[in-house]
Parts: sequence; structure tokens; C-alpha cells
Amino acid sequence: MEFGIKKCRVLVMKKGRHHKSGIELASEDKIKEIDLEEGYKYLGVLEADSIKEKIMKENVRKEYIRWVKEIQRSKLNRRNTISAINARAVSIIRYIAGTVGWKTDELQSLDRRTRKLLTTYNMFQSKGDVDRLYQQRSEGGRKKEDCVLIEKSCLYCYVSVSEELLLKESLNESVVAVGHDKETVLTIRKSKFLEKKLHSVFFKAIEFRDVKRYEWLRKGDWKKAAEGTLMAGQEQAIRTRSIQHRIDRVDIPPNCRICDEREETVAHIVSECGKLAQKQYKQWRQDNVAQTIHWQLCKDNSLEHNEQWYDHRPKAIVENESFKLLWDMRIQTDRELAYNNPDIIAFNKDKRTCLIIDVTCPFDYRLPEGEREKIDCYDELKRELKRIWNCREIKIVPIVIGAFGTISTRSHS
Ligand SMILES: [Zn+2]
Repeated sequence: MEFGIKKCRVLVMKKGRHHKSGIELASEDKIKEIDLEEGYKYLGVLEADSIKEKIMKENVRKEYIRWVKEIQRSKLNRRNTISAINARAVSIIRYIAGTVGWKTDELQSLDRRTRKLLTTYNMFQSKGDVDRLYQQRSEGGRKKEDCVLIEKSCLYCYVSVSEELLLKESLNESVVAVGHDKETVLTIRKSKFLEKKLHSVFFKAIEFRDVKRYEWLRKGDWKKAAEGTLMAGQEQAIRTRSIQHRIDRVDIPPNCRICDEREETVAHIVSECGKLAQKQYKQWRQDNVAQTIHWQLCKDNSLEHNEQWYDHRPKAIVENESFKLLWDMRIQTDRELAYNNPDIIAFNKDKRTCLIIDVTCPFDYRLPEGEREKIDCYDELKRELKRIWNCREIKIVPIVIGAFGTISTRSHS
């Protein structure tokens, strides 16, 4: 093992002045003196007669941005992308917190740059809500660490709870700036978000409280761009014609560019436009959900099915000795019924039980009505089937999923 003499440097200060003097070693090697301009990196901090703040800040900024870009280019899903940024990139800032005197505007500019990079990779829309981005996922946010919070609060929180005498004194002598703890900062951010009339309208209307209704957000296993777009839609951050007309004051009509019948709001595009109803809403959305349920039922009951749900093309009837599944089939009844064509009917031959499953994806505000409508409209079919098929028990199962991903608690159970 060798001692790294070439890497060692000497700094001699006398009465605050630098004295040039290397150290000659018996082995005729020499430990050079520190170049005051270049400095010397000790435990990751660049210093000479004082800490080289300007160079350190620039180096940390470049390294932080480099890591954010690297992580964004990776194939990580959205949740892991944010976790990786927090763990790898933000830790570079966290490491020197308190050593280098960051100004709040410098850190805010770093946060802005991060958000721009998130926008470049479609994880965050430029008009999306900044305060929501930093909230916990259970609160509807994305759990991005806030650079300003890291620098200004973490050190304060650490020192404020410490029992060490010197650390306590550093707080008394204002060596460490007084800040807020993380919970307080997030609470302030949340109230700021809720005060914004346009961004928070969706959350206020659906009462974002039950975490189970947003399991997809907590799991975070979607693609990055999909989450970015969906969240922008929830925050009304997509420039629809209505918003351009009413808020941006652009001289264009506010009506939908596809049907030209109603105002082009986010709700209209995702669930109310007559011209999108048959193909985009029915085939691309509802049928895909029903198809997934059909695939799962086939799998659970050893019926014919494809390896992957997305390759599964349901047949009108599949059955074995104990189970029968009907797909999108009009049921023959003695009486003529207005609703006799549910997405799936699952009949258990052994137990003589039956499930009438029907999928609907209304706008998230209308989830309870969607459930009630499905139960009401298939009630007659339920009674007819019970009689014709001699069922012991028959249930209507409405699968109601909001256009922006809200899952009804009934569907969840
Ligand atoms: Zn329309």
C-alpha cells in the first residue's frame, strides 16, 4: 500500500496570510503547497484559506443537473425517476448544506431548472402546479424534494432537535438560519395549491382524501409522460380552447374543435364529447377495462385466455364444467328490456351465482351517479336472469373508473 504523496498538499497560514512552503520528505519526495486559486478538495468540499463557495456552487449545480438529466434519460418508471432524483441528485446539494451559503434565489433557480428538465421529458407540464409537485403521493403529489427546503430547513431541523451543547449554541448565535420543518413547508405549499382556483378545482370537487381511490398514483408504475399529461389535465393546465379564450384572452372561439357543440374544457374532451364517444371513450377506454376484467376472470377460472391481458380478445362465450363467461352479448328474455347487454356476465354453475359486470368511465365528479345508473338500469335484467337461469344469488358489479383515474370505492372492494 502506498501513501498518496502526489495528492497531498500543504497550507501554512501565519496571521491570516499564506506562507509558501512545501514539505521535503526523507524519501526526496515533496508535498506541494496548495494553489490558493485552485484550492484543495477535502471530504468533497473545495477549500484553501477559505471554502471556495463560488466554485463549489458551480460544480454542485453542474453535477446536480447532470444527474437529473441522466436519470430522466433512464428507463425508470415515474415513481422511481423521482426517487432517484431525490436520492442521487438532491443528495449532492444535501451533502454541502450549511457548508456553502446558498442564497434562496440560487436554489429557486435550481428548482426551476429541474422543473424545466422534467417538462423536457414530459414528466411535468410547463403550466402544471408547482406546489403539488412537491407534495407526498398520498396527498396527490409526486414527492419531488425541494432544493430550497433541503438547504434551508434540513440543517435547522437537525440542529433544533440536537442535545449537543455546541449545536444548541450555533442556533442561539444564529449561525444556523431558523427555518420551517418539512411538514410545515408542505402544509404551506398545500394551502397555496388549494387557494389556486383553476388548479385545485378538480381536487376540491372530488375530495381527494381516500388514498385507495388513487392507487395508481401511489404505485407510480406508469410511464413518465402518461402521468405528466394526466396530472396536467387534473390541474386544468392543458390549454384547451376554453382556457385560451377565457384566461389567456386569445381571440378564438371557446367551442370544442371536434364537435363544435359545447365549450372545450378538459372535462368535455375526456368524457363528454359526442364525436369521441363511440371510438375513443367506448373502444379505447371502456372496452379495454372490460377486456382486462374478462382476462382476469378467465385466468382465475381456468378458461381459455392469452398470456398477456393486452393480447386478450374475448370470445362471445367461454365456458368449462363449472364456469361460463359471456362477453358483450344481448341476453334473450321473456320481456323486452331496455338494458340487456352488459359487458360481461359471469355464471358460476356449481354455486349457481351470477355477476353482471358493466364498465363505465365518466368524468371523475360523476362517479357516484355512474354507479347508481348502472345498478338501476340492470336491475330488471337481474330479476329476469335470476328466474330464467335459476340463480341462487345474482349481483350487479358496476366498474366505475373516472376519466382521470379516480377509482370508486365499490369497484376497489
Ligand atoms: Zn366536442
